Amino acid sequence: MNSNIIKLAQSELNRLFHANIGVDGIAGKNTKAALHRVTVLPTEWNTKRKIVGLIQYVATMENIDAGAIDGKWGPQTESAYADLSYKREHGRLPEPWRQDEFTGSSEGQWPLQNEAAMNAFYGEVGTNQGKANSPYPLKLAWQTNKIVNRFTCHEKVAPAIERVLQKVLTHYGLEEIQRLRLDLWGGALNVRKMRGGSKWSTHAWGTSIDWDPSNNQLRWNKQKATLAAPEYDFWWNCWEEEGAVSLGREQDRDWMHVQFARLR
Ligand SMILES: [Zn+2]
Repeated sequence: MNSNIIKLAQSELNRLFHANIGVDGIAGKNTKAALHRVTVLPTEWNTKRKIVGLIQYVATMENIDAGAIDGKWGPQTESAYADLSYKREHGRLPEPWRQDEFTGSSEGQWPLQNEAAMNAFYGEVGTNQGKANSPYPLKLAWQTNKIVNRFTCHEKVAPAIERVLQKVLTHYGLEEIQRLRLDLWGGALNVRKMRGGSKWSTHAWGTSIDWDPSNNQLRWNKQKATLAAPEYDFWWNCWEEEGAVSLGREQDRDWMHVQFARLR
């Protein structure tokens, strides 16, 4: 079990049930004893199930929909846990995603990510490149003292990228962008084959961008990748509004990566 989940449960035990235990992410003797004293949790549940049940219970009391308080971790609990963590950190629930903030849906205009479809739409790998200008300063993710105001990408995707970044700037503002590390640019055009494969990466056409790679590594799933947190929903919605695909949102891997190529 993720230690952050245990930490949240421990701090709730302290806050609501006056447990006075350490918040260390380890479900030790004191945590078990404190859970045992929470009368809404069936005594026959094991520690893990009680922790999940406690989070479901606290979320429900905070008007966060956690589904049934059954001690079982599922998508509803996952989402309730994310909202509750956010609320404890920021003192309020994350902004709900509002459909009317988005205009000009263009989903479906981009090709499938296979080589033939990509070549037909974009041309050969590495060709037809242009520049995307960022409305806010980007930092090279691997050398953060280096500022990037524009970067090379396929000329067909540059306007969409600029629209996304403009919406992002308007919505979050520069300070929040920096706090969320949405200014950490991890590269776009890269004429290379996919890791461990013979196919071209979508980066080879300049149609993908990586963001904050060190906090969103290739094999990390949403438990670990920071870009999976609810506060990034607006960010991803902006990309999806342009028809771009987040591998994180679609496949729960490679959360750094967004591409102007369809998976299906
Ligand atoms: Zn990538």
